[in-house]
Amino acid sequence: MSDGNLVLPRSFAFRETPPDGANDILARYGITSDTMTPDCNITLLRDGDRTILFDVGAGQEFMPSAGKLMDAFDTLELDVSDITDVVFTHAHPDHLWGVRDDFGDLMFPDATYHMGQAEWDYWTDPDTVSTIDEGRVTFAVGAMNRLELLADQINLFADNQEILPGVLSRLTPGHTPGHMSFEVQMGGEAVMIVGDSIVNHHVAFEKPAWLSGSDQDPELGAQTRLALLDQLSTAQMRLIGFHLPSGGWGHAERRGDGFVFVGDDA
Ligand SMILES: [Zn+2]
Repeated sequence: MSDGNLVLPRSFAFRETPPDGANDILARYGITSDTMTPDCNITLLRDGDRTILFDVGAGQEFMPSAGKLMDAFDTLELDVSDITDVVFTHAHPDHLWGVRDDFGDLMFPDATYHMGQAEWDYWTDPDTVSTIDEGRVTFAVGAMNRLELLADQINLFADNQEILPGVLSRLTPGHTPGHMSFEVQMGGEAVMIVGDSIVNHHVAFEKPAWLSGSDQDPELGAQTRLALLDQLSTAQMRLIGFHLPSGGWGHAERRGDGFVFVGDDA
């Protein structure tokens, strides 16, 4: 389901100065202006009695181009009370802030919420707001305000756990300290929900080792991205990326010393 899109400076794809060749790569993907407008894709999994959301989008307080999830609910004739479980990849605004409605209450009141223990511990630590870098202070304040609403309904989990039937947690840190991906195994098929561990379809695939300005720990983020792309391409496993085109659906193919994203509707 679409939550709309973000509007970001292109510098977000790198740290400060673009590496040699960066502009050529972006141009090949049609990005020639100073801004990028990546999609936001929320995964809905319906499995018997369970209706599971992976991340909830940005809500109304982050940016006007995002927070459109309720339009997708209307199209599918889905009600917020239908959601039994909400699983978070991480606690950034475009993934978490939609958890709170316009009245300050939980958007999905009947759901059980699930988040990796390390991610929860980081964003609920009162010291985070003073230790995080300046550009991310609003992320920390926004996460704290929302996570405190979830305290009674949260299931915290570790790496490599079956958190729901057929849904396995895969720790993929770097973008945030406790970022999680999820391997969904159903009917003999597997798909990896990668969240923001592979955050775009251009430089993150072609030059996975380049440090990304969107990763809180860029070195760890690059290490995670390389390992995940290696695994997904070797296993030929489908993936869903939160900010990738084709609704996020596709797979990774090895190309030269990097990879390429092949979207399902390509
Ligand atoms: Zn994101």
